[in-house]
Amino acid sequence: MPKKETKYIFVVGGVMSSVGKGIAASSIGKILQSRGYAITNIKADMYVNLDAGTIRPAEHGEVFVGEDGIEADQDLGNYERFTNQVSTRENYITTGQIYAEVIKRERNLEYEGEDVEVYPDIPKEIIRRIEACQKKNNAEIVIIEYGGTVGEYQLLPFLEAVRMMKSKKPLDVFIVLISYLPTPSLLGEQKSKPTQHAVTDLYSVGLNPDFVICRADHPATPDIKRTISNVCSLPVERIVSAPDVYSIYDVPVNFEKENFGGVLLKTIGLSQRHKDLADWTALAAKIKKMKKEVHIGIVGKYFNFKSCKDTYISVIESINHSAWASNFKPDIIWLDSEKYENDHKLLSELDELDGIIVPGGFGKRGTEGMILAADYARRNKIPYFGLCLGMQIMTIAYARHVLNLNHANSTEFDSNTPDPVIATMQDQIEKIKNKNYGATMRLGACPASLKKGSIAEAAYHESKISERHRHRYEVNPKYVDRLEKAGLVFSGKSPSGILMEIAELPKNKHPFYLGTQFHPEFKSRPLSPHPLFTAFIKACIGRQKK
Ligand code: GLN
Repeated sequence: MPKKETKYIFVVGGVMSSVGKGIAASSIGKILQSRGYAITNIKADMYVNLDAGTIRPAEHGEVFVGEDGIEADQDLGNYERFTNQVSTRENYITTGQIYAEVIKRERNLEYEGEDVEVYPDIPKEIIRRIEACQKKNNAEIVIIEYGGTVGEYQLLPFLEAVRMMKSKKPLDVFIVLISYLPTPSLLGEQKSKPTQHAVTDLYSVGLNPDFVICRADHPATPDIKRTISNVCSLPVERIVSAPDVYSIYDVPVNFEKENFGGVLLKTIGLSQRHKDLADWTALAAKIKKMKKEVHIGIVGKYFNFKSCKDTYISVIESINHSAWASNFKPDIIWLDSEKYENDHKLLSELDELDGIIVPGGFGKRGTEGMILAADYARRNKIPYFGLCLGMQIMTIAYARHVLNLNHANSTEFDSNTPDPVIATMQDQIEKIKNKNYGATMRLGACPASLKKGSIAEAAYHESKISERHRHRYEVNPKYVDRLEKAGLVFSGKSPSGILMEIAELPKNKHPFYLGTQFHPEFKSRPLSPHPLFTAFIKACIGRQKK
């Protein structure tokens, strides 16, 4: 049998960003995977940053950490949640990486005396990376999502890469345009003109969409579909509706209602296969039926005018997965920690909640408010779950209020603290001194051993785990003995026993008071929620019953 060629599906945005390109790309991955195809998803971002590690989360969204420690755009988290495929650095491309590689090669005389040009050397390197990712994942179909929208200057080399690939492999390279159909309130009808302009932008760089996905608040009308199909010279079946849905997990299900998977395979020239999306479809249906709510406060600081949804997306989704598994509808309340610093009385609002989470974060701002909230949750037996910074915060609160080390702190927030219960990790000292900040934290998957009889061990049902990390500071080994003697249990430790990975209070002292130095939120999946989030949610539901 002749070898089947790999198929490449490029997902590009038109009209405007933030309309769910990442979810669409994840859903395309999901529906192809559900038919037994080996897929891999790539995100290509236009910025010159080498990775997402130095970017402000309040504006650009969460930094998602892969198993291998890549600090990537949040879309890699969507891919993982939808397809359960583990992303590594090959799945993430930026303009910065492309240029850095080309310049490095130039310095190594690898261009053999030729001058190095933006065209074709930059697109060539983009293609090389896409193909390398395909090889590493042995993928039959590669889905590459481009950040930004067509018509942007920065996207040109990336679009040129598509054109170059397509001219070599016309039957293997496809373009899905994710567009937006506005419905002006005065008119009350969907408009396709902005989409037509986006298609024209693609034409101008020598590309044609093979599919148009119409994001809108309502399904695309047959008229609109016909108009767009005419403009793009595409059969109507390749114009796909993507209306707003109850949850993002509905998107693949909706795509299948339009038989997008079937049409996609027909178009790219792969055989139709049996589809297995039953569990996923059942979950998407179940989510809508849930009535009983569980109320979770997130005490954080990366809140901005837009939304906190992108900043804390993996935390939110992990809460969702575990709440749904317990047949509860999550109600998330955003609590800006800084307000507690100005008015301690406001802490009493935590009484109304079923539990609180202190998520990851960097820098001093807001940490005093978080410490107050952690202490309040301990004294009032409110379930508390600390994620990375949240574990450091609960350790500081414990040192201050149980060990009476009134000025205990992290050296990150107070370099002169008399009691640095959280201190710079040894290997970080030199890096911070040299301002060597990019990709230098303790990153990615690391193993840990769990203590027998602990809450953590009971949740995981095993004693050896591996979780993803992203931090520079740690529980100071010099204080571990004292903290343990005062009742804080370090129930997870690195194999060497030096790094504290989980801190908790025993069940007879508190219903759930637990923090992790790692980020469990990166490994929760809709159909396999994270055990610690599930244990936390169960404790929150338990508080409701009281
Ligand atoms: N700022 C803390 C550290 O670097 C916590 C990091 C985090 O929450 N990801 O250790």
